[in-house]
Amino acid sequence: MSDAHRAYRDELLQHGLLISMGVDGLYGRSPVFEQIVGGIDHAFSRAAGADGAETMRFPPGIGKAQLEQSGYLKSSPQLVGTVHSFMGLDRDHRAMIETLEKGGDWTAGQKTTQVALTPATCYAVYPVMAARGPLAEAGGLVDVRGYCFRHEPSIDPARLQMFRQREHVRLGTEAQALDFRALWIERAQTIIGSFGLPFEVDVANDPFFGRTGKLLATSQREDALKFELLVPITSNEAPTACASFNYHRDLFGRTWGVRTAAGEVAHTACVGFGLERITLALLKHHGFVPAKWPAKVRDALGL
Ligand code: AMP
Ligand code: ZN
Repeated sequence: MSDAHRAYRDELLQHGLLISMGVDGLYGRSPVFEQIVGGIDHAFSRAAGADGAETMRFPPGIGKAQLEQSGYLKSSPQLVGTVHSFMGLDRDHRAMIETLEKGGDWTAGQKTTQVALTPATCYAVYPVMAARGPLAEAGGLVDVRGYCFRHEPSIDPARLQMFRQREHVRLGTEAQALDFRALWIERAQTIIGSFGLPFEVDVANDPFFGRTGKLLATSQREDALKFELLVPITSNEAPTACASFNYHRDLFGRTWGVRTAAGEVAHTACVGFGLERITLALLKHHGFVPAKWPAKVRDALGL
């Protein structure tokens, strides 16, 4: 498996589609790569059409306090990244430079800032919506896109430390959240099908339910809270999750204090497309030259 990962990564580097930055999971992207990312984003927008989502764009960081409140530290501590900075005096600075010159750990004197790296693009949305007060009758629908950080260094080019998600986030009643998710499970299959990619949709587990996440992961599978759309990239036996469809019940509503128009705790759901993973799937299945891809695929991507 890891041989297949390394081979595909090396091919992408050789063709200049990814640019080495000396760290596994951290790469630059070529113009061709970015064109494909743009095409996927465009197809997502086209499918979402007249839904009337409110667009919000956030930087790739969230407040440390928001991260703490989200429960992510309980469910996935190993993936979290926080931003640290030097906040010392002149003598601390001198000591740091000395340590650096000796090859020691110069970061030891750094302190955490108020900023954490965004682990999932939708995390910025819930506190913003909660702060507005109760939702309208029609609920809320928010469109986000941005970089996420997850500390999972790997030679698998589809397992990045910094990657982009395009998401729609639904907030409202249970029925509104579930209808939204059902709609996107259908839509995503149409979109990925139009890209000429093989895929399957399966239930997954994702311990977004906190400390007891491991236990709940089992019940989550039973309750089918998370579905994924999987596409084979480096392996047919172990296809890669390229999009996810999540129903959080009223967990985020309770966590953030999001209320429906009727004053009840809101239910939430989100759909997230992994822009790099879908790009890597397209390059794998159709080749490294998009100009040579089937016309129907190019059309679907607006290329
Ligand atoms: P998740 O929030 O884990 O359901 O992730 C949503 C989507 O983001 C996944 O379906 C992937 O397409 C993408 N994704 C998650 N983790 C990574 C990663 N380490 N590298 C690249 N894409 C990722
Ligand atoms: Zn999400």
